[in-house]
Amino acid sequence: MKIKEIVLKLKRRLLRLRLQPVRVFCFHEVGETEENNPDRIPMSFLMESVQQLLNSGYRFISLKEAHAHIKKDKIRIKKYAVLTADDGLKCQLNVLEWLEKKNIPITLCLNVLSLSNKTCGLPYRKWYHIEDKETEKRYAEQLYISESELQRIESNLVTFALHGVNHDEAATEISLDDFRKDVEACIQKFASNKHYVPFYTYKYGMHNRNTDEVLRQYNLTPILVDGEKNYNDASCIHRELLEALYRKCQQKLS
Ligand SMILES: [Zn+2]
Repeated sequence: MKIKEIVLKLKRRLLRLRLQPVRVFCFHEVGETEENNPDRIPMSFLMESVQQLLNSGYRFISLKEAHAHIKKDKIRIKKYAVLTADDGLKCQLNVLEWLEKKNIPITLCLNVLSLSNKTCGLPYRKWYHIEDKETEKRYAEQLYISESELQRIESNLVTFALHGVNHDEAATEISLDDFRKDVEACIQKFASNKHYVPFYTYKYGMHNRNTDEVLRQYNLTPILVDGEKNYNDASCIHRELLEALYRKCQQKLS
């Protein structure tokens, strides 16, 4: 290893000693696990993970608060964690009740169309083998938080971030113009909501420099799911997938 690389590595290590990471976690479905659905974790795993983080000194804060820390902290001794949940799924409402009791904030990353309970996103169409419109509607009603359920969320511990109009193509699979339209439609739907926070969660975590630039033009911070922790780069939010951590634990046991 070259001396320059060693110095850089030492510098990074030193920086990390002074700057504790802000860990942002993400989950999807919570309930009984199924082999054909990799995006589901048991509620007990979620509760244990939160408790474990609390026991090791992490304090759960809101996404907005976390972003402010990542932006301004030169030194960060305290350890912060954030919870986010993607896709606006009904099962996440059960988690909200539990989090409320523990005074833990959460950000729900929502699709516009799933709230109408008529269409399912691509991953769910695949996992539930949905092939016709009637089955899709039935699953959509079972799976997603409805518009009226969303309106009933009162707690100021809950915030809403954007996750696209539908859950089909990733930002990088459509033209930049279509991506811009998607972002505008999301803003139009949620920006006046009192729970709204200006963050955009990329579908399937897929993005590029151009899509990031579009979000910047709308003053939105991109949210990724790349397994990384946050230190001092506020240009995006890195997240760790709880499903991946769950699978790792399962592998260790088997
Ligand atoms: Zn999603």
